[in-house]
Amino acid sequence: KAKEDGRNKYCFFTAGMQNQFNRQLQLENALRLAIEHNQLQLVYQPQLCLNNNKLTGFEALLRWQHPELGFISPAEFIPVAEQSGLMIKLGEWVLQHAIQQQKKWFQQGYTELVMAINLSPVQFRQPELLTIISTQLELAKLPAQCIELEITESAMVEDAEQAIKTVDAIRQKGIWIAIDDFGTGYSSLSYLKRFHLNKLKIDQSFVRELLDSLEDRAIVTAIIRMAQSLGLKTIAEGVETAEHQSLLQQLGCDEIQGYHYGRPMPAEAATAFLQQQIASPPSQP
Ligand code: C2E
Ligand code: MG
Ligand code: MG
Ligand code: MG
Repeated sequence: KAKEDGRNKYCFFTAGMQNQFNRQLQLENALRLAIEHNQLQLVYQPQLCLNNNKLTGFEALLRWQHPELGFISPAEFIPVAEQSGLMIKLGEWVLQHAIQQQKKWFQQGYTELVMAINLSPVQFRQPELLTIISTQLELAKLPAQCIELEITESAMVEDAEQAIKTVDAIRQKGIWIAIDDFGTGYSSLSYLKRFHLNKLKIDQSFVRELLDSLEDRAIVTAIIRMAQSLGLKTIAEGVETAEHQSLLQQLGCDEIQGYHYGRPMPAEAATAFLQQQIASPPSQP
């Protein structure tokens, strides 16, 4: 009987799991090569300040177009990179390329722009993180205020004491820290008191039905009020319509990011967007 049970256990390793495992392994190998063979690209999504209607900066987002496998979403390959030990290398690639792009814009005279860069929890726990960032900034001759790091709540839950030190060291440098996907993590709100953060990025899941859902509106209102009392900035992600934008403005949200203002775009298109925005900023809604 016991033997049978034991044997049955192996039946749980289904064809579906086998396929998923194969896909992961395939992506892992492909990703290793992609980093070496320059198959990766960064796209830049603009962020708009609702108080003065000005472009504040861009978020750098990874794109991967594989010659045979086609387009692969970062939502799929970032976890693969994290599980396979590739994330450190990939994260360095992102930091380097985002900062180099920021340097170009800075040299063109756009010195007020901020580049938001996503950090994986794996990178956040890397002891060399600050050295890597400082080196890249020095190479590009950029002040620290030119970049902002986006971390998720999950980066802060494990070993909170160390995480607080890391956040403080980053802030000490003059680099801003935003909490990405705010409101969707599993941590308690007490970290807002213990960590010296700058900005909350209100997750798009609360923004999507903002106009129709009383619950979502209550949550977004509460986040904005709380942030204001704590001296933190707010940015709403996933803003897809003018109605969303004006409601968020009424609620006192500082900034927005989403398809309504601009999609993530390659460097040349982002540069054109930037020039056009400076020449003729969007009219107040
Ligand atoms: P995220 O950092 O929360 O980025 C926002 C995601 O929302 C992006 O998806 C963006 O394309 C999408 N988005 C922006 N505006 C809208 C909108 O109006 N409507 C909708 N429906 N979506 C919108 P993307 O580029 O597919 O990235 C997904 C996630 O992958 C990111 O979420 C981030 O967690 C991760 N990621 C992307 N690039 C990097 C990177 O360089 N490093 C790390 N560690 N993670 C990255
Ligand atoms: Mg982000
Ligand atoms: Mg987000
Ligand atoms: Mg997200």
